[in-house]
Amino acid sequence: MPADSTCFRPRCLSRIAGVTEQDILDRGIELIAISFVDNAGLTRAKSITAAKAQAAATRGVGSPHAFSIFQGDDGMSTATGFEAVGDTRLVPDLDRLAGGLEGWGWAPGDLYDQDGEPWDFCTRSFLKRQTARLAEAGFEMKMSYEHEWYAETSLGKPAHSTPAYSLSSTAEAAAYMREVAMRLAAFGVTVDQIHPEYSHGQMEVSVAAADPVAAADNCVATRHAIRTAWPVTGIRPSFAPVSRADGLGNGCHLHVSLWRDGKNLMGSDPQRELGLTSEGNSFMAGVLREYRALASLGCACPLSYRRLAPNRWTGAYVCWGVENRETPFRFIRAGKPTRPDGVNAEVKVLDSSANPYLMAGAVIAAGLAGLADGIELPDPVQIEPSRVADELGLELLPENLLAAADALEASQLLRGALGERLHDAIVAVRRGEAASAAQLDDDALLEAYRWRY
Ligand code: GLU
Ligand code: MG
Repeated sequence: MPADSTCFRPRCLSRIAGVTEQDILDRGIELIAISFVDNAGLTRAKSITAAKAQAAATRGVGSPHAFSIFQGDDGMSTATGFEAVGDTRLVPDLDRLAGGLEGWGWAPGDLYDQDGEPWDFCTRSFLKRQTARLAEAGFEMKMSYEHEWYAETSLGKPAHSTPAYSLSSTAEAAAYMREVAMRLAAFGVTVDQIHPEYSHGQMEVSVAAADPVAAADNCVATRHAIRTAWPVTGIRPSFAPVSRADGLGNGCHLHVSLWRDGKNLMGSDPQRELGLTSEGNSFMAGVLREYRALASLGCACPLSYRRLAPNRWTGAYVCWGVENRETPFRFIRAGKPTRPDGVNAEVKVLDSSANPYLMAGAVIAAGLAGLADGIELPDPVQIEPSRVADELGLELLPENLLAAADALEASQLLRGALGERLHDAIVAVRRGEAASAAQLDDDALLEAYRWRY
């Protein structure tokens, strides 16, 4: 039992010290949506009034155990008969409360069991544990999630036409982009760049890097801010890996850099090519070694595997490259004025079906293992990888959700980091969802998932 039966954690109380209902109302927030991301990558939410914020931050609100086995299609992945039994407490992190538009705020939540311990299936707690391991090893990381999405008007037309990345599509989508940028700021997300992407209606936003938990929270906030523009503009966002049969995929790339004592270990060794220190190299090698299992975390949707193909800037083979957009793991040297701080590695494999907490935590675990084993990256691939895949013996990324589930199940490293129960649950969710998807043909699958994320 918790020491103080009114509060799961003493820090819950300090966290809300001074935050009164009036403070929240003064920020224009009457209602608060508390989010958590499930193992299928869906962001679920429960909402409270400002008057209940203090109570929720100390005691949490009820949330069912079953969320650990929810699929992206709202099916449940097992038939044990216990799906309906058991509750957790969802506790909003009011330090990250943001919003204040149309009377609404948002805060990310942590899930605790009924005795006040972090719940085994709480993915935000998993990321906190991995971040603590990183700190114990003497490192820090900066991360940011870069989103692509498809925007559609109320008439069912793309919100902008092509040419890709053009000034004319920027003019066409200007009012929408302004609304989205304003909303991102309201939800505490700093926009670095926003523009129309390659395909009709495709948009992209990149945001400032932050520590891993803040970056994952920002990922949730980014999608939420963009979704809230829908009722106001009539433009609906689709974060599905593929939104139109004739469009390119939507990625959600994770940019990472490894730091110690204020130095970016991805770019601060003047003696080595690219500036990549031996520790930065081992960290990346550890991530690359787990890439097929990481793909299972980052690509939770049956449609994810339609996105991963050669010649689409997503990558289909396990390899890395220097500024090579056809490799799923891309080293970015950054321009001279921003070196070494701006140097980073981009995990391109994921899309918006990725749970950002699981993904960031798993990247940390894989990188730390690479450091512990002192392994090194192979040579970078500087050409479209399918042209040299046979010669170099490159492995394919998983080709579908079932293969991804197998890759995750086989990863002892992620099993250790996630804990057996969470690991098993994610594998079960992937398999359950793959079985449901097998009932649908290509068109039906696209329709079923188009607006899910
Ligand atoms: N749209 C591509 C994807 O699905 C990425 C394009 C880019 O490199 O920005 O990941
Ligand atoms: Mg892009």
